[in-house]
Amino acid sequence: MNVVTNHSTHVLVVGSGIIGGAISLALLRKGVSVCQIRPLSGRRESASLAAGAMLGAFAEVTADKNSALDQEETAFRVRSSSLYPEWLAELSALSGSAIDSGMGTFIVANTFGRHDLRNIQAIERELARFGSPYQTVDECDVPGYHPNERYLPRKILWLPQEGFVDTVALMSALDAATESHPRFSHENCWVDRLMLRSGKVCGVVLPDGRELEGDHVVLAAGVGTQALLEALPDEARLSSPRLMPGKGTSLILETSEHFPHVLRSPNRDFACGIHVVPRGKGRIYVGATNRTASCPGTSTGASVEEVHDLLHEVVHEFNTSLDSATIESIRVGSRPICVDGYPLVGSTECPGLSLATGTYRNGVLMAPLIGLIIASEIVGDSIDEANPFSPRGRKLRDDTLSSSALFKSGAEGIVSFLPSPHGALPYKRSEELSGFLHTLLSMALKDGDELESLRQEARRLLQSQPMNESFAQLFFMLGEHQAVG
Ligand SMILES: Cc1cc2nc3c(=O)[nH]c(=O)nc-3n(C[C@H](O)[C@H](O)[C@H](O)COP(=O)(O)OP(=O)(O)OC[C@H]3O[C@@H](n4cnc5c(N)ncnc54)[C@H](O)[C@@H]3O)c2cc1C
Repeated sequence: MNVVTNHSTHVLVVGSGIIGGAISLALLRKGVSVCQIRPLSGRRESASLAAGAMLGAFAEVTADKNSALDQEETAFRVRSSSLYPEWLAELSALSGSAIDSGMGTFIVANTFGRHDLRNIQAIERELARFGSPYQTVDECDVPGYHPNERYLPRKILWLPQEGFVDTVALMSALDAATESHPRFSHENCWVDRLMLRSGKVCGVVLPDGRELEGDHVVLAAGVGTQALLEALPDEARLSSPRLMPGKGTSLILETSEHFPHVLRSPNRDFACGIHVVPRGKGRIYVGATNRTASCPGTSTGASVEEVHDLLHEVVHEFNTSLDSATIESIRVGSRPICVDGYPLVGSTECPGLSLATGTYRNGVLMAPLIGLIIASEIVGDSIDEANPFSPRGRKLRDDTLSSSALFKSGAEGIVSFLPSPHGALPYKRSEELSGFLHTLLSMALKDGDELESLRQEARRLLQSQPMNESFAQLFFMLGEHQAVG
């Protein structure tokens, strides 16, 4: 570990989002001097300002993420959520401003979300495992909930300890709290690249060629972290999996409908489902889409399709009276997603360099714990907190393409995402289409000969009856096949 035990240490924190702010504050608390590099122009696309933000320790659980590391991630979220009340109180006191926040989350599984029920069951299992309170409630007990008749609830959970916070207020309180500290400075500029001396990171180079020196550099630049890592010379390159952007669009609506708590679906089809977060009197936050690189709609602005999708879902699934709400603003931000799906937190193989990113859908929730872990590591303090997300020696597993679970959940996600919003396939066509796509994807992308006999059978079918009707047979034949893996 790159431990610097001396408290006169000067640390450069690159990034103006919630993670950079939380780390700066945690380092100041430890007696370190901090320079945060935070380009104001970069805030426009920062994930932090586009976030709800739900503090969803349990609501983020899904049935398809059930590995040991997924369970550790849940524990990480739970631990960070327990730090929140004290963190917010400290930030309010230091900044002198109130930060809007609240408690309580309703999670609705309805007739539209194809995997809502199985995800809500996974959430219940985790709540029970951690002994966290929850109860099943009736739709009449959910304030603000009046869905359209085609989107009826199948199950609703009430999580009294799952909270939310206004990120805009939180970010300005973080800025004010750090700026009031005598050992804090900040630079309103971008970082061009890292500076190395004898194999150790010793500062950053700015676009105008200026150099800022530091004993340690923390990269908390969200999706911008990837470009800085790619600019490292070959001998300093890290082995950790790369980051990609998950563009998210959200809305602030003005409405007289009252939502005192978070109202949300479980996560759905490559995104965090539909949700409403209270934003003070007469305003609500509605989120959120997720468009990963090379999907349509990944331009920097919000697309018509994204806004339409959000509005359709919130009006029909949650409250039909929101059709007369007005749109106050639209926000867009890029979530930093590590391609193995987990955060990257901690010191790296490259001396003098730590990473704090890859927080995907949960960066606001995880910020206090990430701040604590990074700051403790840099000053050499031991902490009780487990950090399952160290970047050291982390690599993408090379057996990914033999994982049938990946192909199955990818195919299911596509089938569930395509008819959204509004559409639905009749009978059990969604399952049949998922099965067909699962087999097709496996045939196209998996190594090995396991599917060779199926390929031969499909060819024989088309040779013996070369009619377009044969494709219907092929659809069911491949759909019924349990892809190997
Ligand atoms: C629509 C949406 C909804 C979300 N909802 C939630 C939620 O409900 N709950 C939750 O916990 N999380 C939520 N998230 C996820 C959360 O917002 C992110 O995980 C978190 O904000 C990431 O914080 P960050 O500081 O790493 O990144 P960012 O907020 O993106 O900040 C990174 C900053 O680094 C700066 N930067 C980039 N490159 C450089 C460079 N070269 N030099 C200097 N600075 C640079 C950028 O300007 C940027 O401001 C949501 C995200 C989105 C987009």
